[in-house]
Amino acid sequence: MSAPVGRFAPTPSGRMHLGNVFAALIAWLSVKSQGGSMLLRMEDLDTLRTSEEFAEILRWDLRWLGLTWDLETPPQSQRSAVYSRYFDRLAEQGLLYPCYCTRSQLHNVNAPHLSDGTYVYPGTCRNLTAEEQAAFCRDPAWRVKVPDKLWTVDDRVQGIYKENLATDCGDFVVRRADGVFVYQLAVTVDDGEFGVTEVVRGMDLLSSAPRQMYLQTLFGFSHPAYGHVPMLMAPDGRRLSKRDKDMDLGYLQDRITAEALLGLLAYSANLIDTLTPISAQELASEFSWQKLRKEDIYLDLSPILG
Ligand code: GLU
Repeated sequence: MSAPVGRFAPTPSGRMHLGNVFAALIAWLSVKSQGGSMLLRMEDLDTLRTSEEFAEILRWDLRWLGLTWDLETPPQSQRSAVYSRYFDRLAEQGLLYPCYCTRSQLHNVNAPHLSDGTYVYPGTCRNLTAEEQAAFCRDPAWRVKVPDKLWTVDDRVQGIYKENLATDCGDFVVRRADGVFVYQLAVTVDDGEFGVTEVVRGMDLLSSAPRQMYLQTLFGFSHPAYGHVPMLMAPDGRRLSKRDKDMDLGYLQDRITAEALLGLLAYSANLIDTLTPISAQELASEFSWQKLRKEDIYLDLSPILG
């Protein structure tokens, strides 16, 4: 088997918080413990929220942590011509249709939704006639039709996760009305074109995996291995978010070493038995997916912040 290829896929919209650091650490450990290589890709499709300044800070943060990458692939904001070609392939197969639903129409859909808040799209615009489409007089979003088929993710952390896109998600948007390609399409094309063999990211993205597996099948890419790592929680049980300023690297870098932080993360995730400062390189020599904690991780920084 050839060496694995992993990736960091941060969104440069702010400082890295500890949830991102943890996912990046596990992605790196998995690949490096198997002698593989790591890609870095800036997911800056949302040009209003992201910037090159944040991208540069992210690179600095990853270097500070000792999480190296072998190649930085082009940022998503520069790849719309490539995404467009894949979009056209879906169109040629008759798998796309324009959707004119407004945000409020979609939110009023009284239907179950996925854990990431995605509503099951009821297919409102699937069978509009050309006349009905023309009557809207505005640019549509584009949805891909999904088959009635069960997708199984054999996740390294979460175990078996199943989803039928037809009943759990519905036809989903691949290009927004303003012409921007969406995350699901961009990530599938990038991971596929750059030969990514393992995708490691936060548990909150588990429900995206079946949509990406479906697109991989349509584009002729093989499926990567998936590992959706547990979420980090504050000691009081809240999920850590960008709002927790004391949990972002800007604050922490002035107060602790990278090794102290990696030691705490690794210890809290059951990767090491004692709380001790440790480098990413040292952790790689002992890494195994079996040891990694599967449940939410409660992170108490007080032992290292003092
Ligand atoms: N860009 C996403 C994020 O920063 C990660 C996407 C992925 O890993 O597939 O949360």
